[in-house]
Amino acid sequence: MARVLKTKELIDTRLATNYGGWMYCDKCNENIGYLCYSTYDRLELKYKCNCGSQGSVISEFEDSKTGQGCNEELLIIKNRFCCSKDKNPLITILDNKILNYEMQITCKSCHKMYKRVFK
Ligand SMILES: [Zn+2]
Ligand SMILES: [Zn+2]
Repeated sequence: MARVLKTKELIDTRLATNYGGWMYCDKCNENIGYLCYSTYDRLELKYKCNCGSQGSVISEFEDSKTGQGCNEELLIIKNRFCCSKDKNPLITILDNKILNYEMQITCKSCHKMYKRVFK
């Protein structure tokens, strides 16, 4: 079922599909991660690619609920960050491809909003 985007702001970044799939740095064309398009409600990601480019992604839907901040860490299952409550896979960040990143991602099914900073 297609979802209707409310906000989509991509800076120096490409997504393989309208609101998910593989994510690429637009400067060097390396893939920097994978966004699971059916399980997230809102993503805000800022990163610095190995090539030096500063990229960012903001994506949210018309029917997205406001995320509830939590202090829990994302679960890591086979290099994919998953919701710690319902184990839904949310996003993979290939941290060998990027120098640092900051993200906030909200799980669509339980509305928990996770923050993660990697330096
Ligand atoms: Zn790059
Ligand atoms: Zn969840």
